Amino acid sequence: MRQSQLLLPTLREAPSEAEAVSHQLMLRAGLIRQLAAGIYTYLPAGRLVLRKLEKIIREEMDNAGCQEVFMPAMQPADLWRQSGRYEKYGPELVRLKDRHDREFALGPTHEEVITDLVRGEVNSYRQLPVTLYQIQTKFRDEKRPRYGLLRGREFMMKDAYSFDADWEGLNESYQRMYDAYHRIFSRCGLHFRPVEADAGTIGGEGGTHEFMALADIGEDTIAACDHCRYAANLEKAGYRIPEGEINTGDSEAYPELEKIHTPNVRKIDELVQALDVSADRILKTLLFLADGKPVAVIVRGDHEVNEIKLAGLLQADKLELADQETTERLTGAAVGFAGPIGLSIPVIVDYSAAGLDSAIAGANETDYHWKHVRPGAHFVAARLRDVRNAVLGDGCPNCAEGKLRMFRGIEVGQVFKLGTKYSEVMQANYLDATGSEKPIIMGCYGIGISRVMSAVVEQHHDEQGIRWPLELAPYQVHVVPVSAKDGQQMDVAGKLYRELMSAGFEVLLDDRDERPGVKFKDSDLIGIPVRIVVGRQAADGVVELKYRNEGEVLQATTEEALGLVTGYFRS
Ligand code: ATP
Ligand code: MG
Repeated sequence: MRQSQLLLPTLREAPSEAEAVSHQLMLRAGLIRQLAAGIYTYLPAGRLVLRKLEKIIREEMDNAGCQEVFMPAMQPADLWRQSGRYEKYGPELVRLKDRHDREFALGPTHEEVITDLVRGEVNSYRQLPVTLYQIQTKFRDEKRPRYGLLRGREFMMKDAYSFDADWEGLNESYQRMYDAYHRIFSRCGLHFRPVEADAGTIGGEGGTHEFMALADIGEDTIAACDHCRYAANLEKAGYRIPEGEINTGDSEAYPELEKIHTPNVRKIDELVQALDVSADRILKTLLFLADGKPVAVIVRGDHEVNEIKLAGLLQADKLELADQETTERLTGAAVGFAGPIGLSIPVIVDYSAAGLDSAIAGANETDYHWKHVRPGAHFVAARLRDVRNAVLGDGCPNCAEGKLRMFRGIEVGQVFKLGTKYSEVMQANYLDATGSEKPIIMGCYGIGISRVMSAVVEQHHDEQGIRWPLELAPYQVHVVPVSAKDGQQMDVAGKLYRELMSAGFEVLLDDRDERPGVKFKDSDLIGIPVRIVVGRQAADGVVELKYRNEGEVLQATTEEALGLVTGYFRS
């Protein structure tokens, strides 16, 4: 491609609203432009990168035995009512009506549509297993679209769905996809980790992994063991329960419970200040309504309640902190003085809080706290559980030695074992060999293709611009004659361009009449893996080769250049 003819509008400065480096670079490199919040156009070079990603994904999906389909974005609301998700999905689901006032949704994901297809077409065990996938635009009216393509409202996804006769089959399908995801993200040059995750709104009973691209801007926190392979999203990460440290209060040697006057001291940091204790000596009491039913949760003052674990434990669809009025009614005190002693609602105590032996806790009386509280002796926990976020340095829940470390990650893909979650409610059944009807066992598998593109840029760039991994670069070789006015340079460059193209490379020729500084800046910004500069030595048939990922510069003849390029992409 001749650059003079390519719509590649590079920018010296990134628009000020772009916070993420990947967003800035993709705008500056002329890959994308915003149409509305979270909604983007891919310019020619951006579209090329996207196609390369799609190609990798298609190859790996096809190799894993999946079949490509293409499903509608516009989906009847009735189908979503059948799965029960029309209401549950909430405002993220884009809803619309046709001219006859019939309700539709724009697909944020396709479990309903694919289950509808399969219940119609697959009836016998002989047709199983089958895994179908598509690459398609998804719509989610995200509350906070941001960071460019990382969280869009309209974005590209590869979604796949497996259908098996039994759980064994699902486990195999799942493993095949898990392995394919490994290959896909490796080929994309991503530094990533699969982590155990919570099943979220898609649900399912069989477990799920997220593939996380490691990046500081990532919105997810990953807890990973420094000793074994354990890694989990913080939403789900456990911690090693301290053995024998649960205080049962048997000992006589503890000081007596003592009520202390703490006027207006409500928060943990205020208690720390006023009483000169450390936060890990305080019992923090939070009141929640789980599907409307009150429950108290006790964690250590330096810990945070994990609402996802709590909702899972209580099997609650809706979990919310109790409002002021409810709190005052339940505790008989102003907000800030709730405590576990004397509460008449179920109390759930986190293991780490249960281990304290002489703690501070709210007294359920305005302006008062208890001192010397022993969980085992002074109040009874309905349940002793892991209900907090894991923290740096916690013991690993999976091995005896390791400690947890924390990383930030971008969720680029997720694999789920759905089981019969959709097939049961939507009656997607098959007849087994004995002729009896059974629900099909499902799995679903997503990759955020446009998000992957951003994540790659997030991980592969320097001060000057993008450094595309070899398989994703919009072009493989950038041929840059220093001066478009120099006939000889243009001849040599033109010849190299044609030769490289006929050798099968994707080449961009910067034939623009621009200053060398501008050309080199653009070239660095766009980040094509190999740059061949045709300059003063063109007359002697000598050019300069530069690898974008390595910064190394080589002098070579035009023939040698061809060999070097071939070697570089083959290795
Ligand atoms: P998140 O937790 O980031 O909102 P999710 O768990 O809701 O994502 P899934 O339903 O698992 O997303 O969708 C499959 C994949 O689609 C995700 O792993 C992610 O890579 C991508 N994805 C999800 N939401 C977006 C979005 N708003 N913009 C771009 N990609 C997205
Ligand atoms: Mg997900």
